[in-house]
Amino acid sequence: MNPPSTPTFESLGLSSELLEAVRAAGFASPTPVQAACIPALLAGRDVVGQSRTGSGKTAAFGLPLLQAIDLERREVQALVLCPTRELASQVARELRGFGAGLGGLTVLELTGGQPARPQREALERGVHLAVGTPGRVQDHLQNGSLHPRSLRHLVLDEADRMLDMGFGPDVRRIVKALPTERRTALFSATFPTSIEEMSRSLQKPDALRVEIEAET
Ligand code: ADP
Ligand code: MG
Repeated sequence: MNPPSTPTFESLGLSSELLEAVRAAGFASPTPVQAACIPALLAGRDVVGQSRTGSGKTAAFGLPLLQAIDLERREVQALVLCPTRELASQVARELRGFGAGLGGLTVLELTGGQPARPQREALERGVHLAVGTPGRVQDHLQNGSLHPRSLRHLVLDEADRMLDMGFGPDVRRIVKALPTERRTALFSATFPTSIEEMSRSLQKPDALRVEIEAET
């Protein structure tokens, strides 16, 4: 079944620790969105990635994020925004799983519907990566508990749903607070004009556009 050109995880530029994590997860070969996005993200490019639900977008952005984290620096270096708490929890869980072999990686959920104080305290102690919903992330940025200065990597997951749910203005406010010297990745199951506009306003002009197949 596999033509010789089928990409392997080994050919994408991932570290040995992350290749081990991929093996432990039981992934035999990268999905198309992973094969297209992982090398570009590892090279520091902005990416807008579209592929249907269930096609492995979490690992497509998650593995390069984990590889970019400097574990010696206990400050928030990457932020993933998701439209719902459930999705944020799911993404955080998957990132912790992939990062289990990275030694001391901390992934914090910043979602609403629960007290902000433990989140604030965790931020004070120092975390590497935050996964949250736009409202709560915005709160933490506004009250100064989340320092944007060390944030170099932003991912908007399920960007189409975030826009549908009316988070566009929140997302824009959050992005304005981040350093301009950052990598921005945008992932989505669909590619409506609104995503194209979002890419144009938030990403670098040379952002790689990956479209795998339309949502059916
Ligand atoms: P999406 O975000 O595109 O909806 P997910 O990242 O949630 O998709 O992945 C869907 C499922 O596929 C998850 O259970 C995930 O563990 C699994 N998966 C991801 N990548 C691979 C792969 N390369 N090989 C096998 N399973 C994979
Ligand atoms: Mg997803």
